[in-house]
Amino acid sequence: MRTQVAIVGSGPAGLLLGQLLTEAGIENVILDRVGKEYILGRVRAGVLEEGTVGLMDQAKSGARMHAEGLPHDGFSLAFDGRDHRIDLFGLTGGKRVMVYGQTELTHDLMDHREKSGALTIYDAADVQPHEFDGQLPYVTYDKGGITHRIDCDFIAGCDGFHGASRKAVPERSIRTFEKVYPFGWLGILADVAPVSHELIYANHPRGFALCSMRSQTRSRYYIQCPFDEKIEDWSDDRFWDELRRRLPAHHAEKMITAPPFEKSIAPLRSFVAEPMRFGRLFLVGDAAHIVPPTGAKGLNLAASDVHYLFSGLIEHYQDRSNNGIDAYSDRALSRVWKAVRFSWWMTMMMHRFPDTSDFDQKIQEAELDYLTHSRAAATALAENYVGLPY
Ligand SMILES: Cc1cc2nc3c(=O)[nH]c(=O)nc-3n(C[C@H](O)[C@H](O)[C@H](O)COP(=O)(O)OP(=O)(O)OC[C@H]3O[C@@H](n4cnc5c(N)ncnc54)[C@H](O)[C@@H]3O)c2cc1C
Repeated sequence: MRTQVAIVGSGPAGLLLGQLLTEAGIENVILDRVGKEYILGRVRAGVLEEGTVGLMDQAKSGARMHAEGLPHDGFSLAFDGRDHRIDLFGLTGGKRVMVYGQTELTHDLMDHREKSGALTIYDAADVQPHEFDGQLPYVTYDKGGITHRIDCDFIAGCDGFHGASRKAVPERSIRTFEKVYPFGWLGILADVAPVSHELIYANHPRGFALCSMRSQTRSRYYIQCPFDEKIEDWSDDRFWDELRRRLPAHHAEKMITAPPFEKSIAPLRSFVAEPMRFGRLFLVGDAAHIVPPTGAKGLNLAASDVHYLFSGLIEHYQDRSNNGIDAYSDRALSRVWKAVRFSWWMTMMMHRFPDTSDFDQKIQEAELDYLTHSRAAATALAENYVGLPY
């Protein structure tokens, strides 16, 4: 088989890139090692920057998002038993975020892809990129006991942190940067009305908590926990009690509880691989970088990478210029590092660290105090939260 762009991974990055290419008349094939139902069962991100919303529209897949998504003009920072609203809309001159689950976004992109007739190969085992240093790259995969081959012009490695694309790059050609945080997030999804119509990021002596949502009837709540905590040790009642304790009383009193239908613990990590281009192989999204979820940047960074790569590929195919693909890695990394910095900063400001000294604690309190009393500081937070321009 031959195509123009072979895309490894059918997560948000691969699907969004595939849909943009298809709309532009550029042939592409997506390969994923798992099946459609498995992908749609993953519960992950839920806050979209305006840039991501714009790309969904550009991919002609944004209709349901606009109908069902919840535009948010602000969020709360809670500490010392009080709420401090960050007015995203006012501080950024009219920008907002959209609350819409990654699962729904994935669903919309998959539906649209099926309708367009573009090919996705699910359950493709042992996907391997080859010869990307030369002019004739190809991808192999196993399915039905047979090894298949797809020849292509370019390979987009959109296969997440544990995928095959980054691993295919010789170690001497890649540099990685990593920070692992000494705790995780215990998250639940429950069909209850959110405790507040905007997100609440809470810093409490017992640890961080986040009240988020997927819709007006579905809540996504998280609490910071030790990274080696066992999910079996967290009964539903224990989770709800702990969440309430970490929120200001006026929220805790209003909290509606119900048995969650999803409960899991996610580790927190910052990771960047440089560069993001190796000849005709490009790393995109989580394949190249991971951020802790504080600040909601993971999915949005995958989208901005897609924007840069898509523009480069358009320049290549339509204008016969390689300037865009040559600049891909630098342009993407410049934005990636700013989001890595922001996610790290929010993580440091909002969590309790096991080895926090009295000095560190005072600095954290001063940071929060500064943010809530300085318009300049709040503006910097808001500007990053709604997403830096592409
Ligand atoms: C538990 C969890 C919670 C998260 N919560 C948030 C959040 O609240 N906010 C936020 O902004 N971000 C969050 N994230 C991060 C966000 O979900 C990711 O940044 C986003 O999914 C990145 O999209 P992607 O397409 O780059 O990678 P992925 O979504 O990881 O997609 C990669 C795809 O590649 C496929 N694949 C993997 N290996 C191979 C292979 N060898 N061959 C073929 N296919 C392969 C996978 O099956 C998958 O479909 C969370 C992530 C996790 C894991």
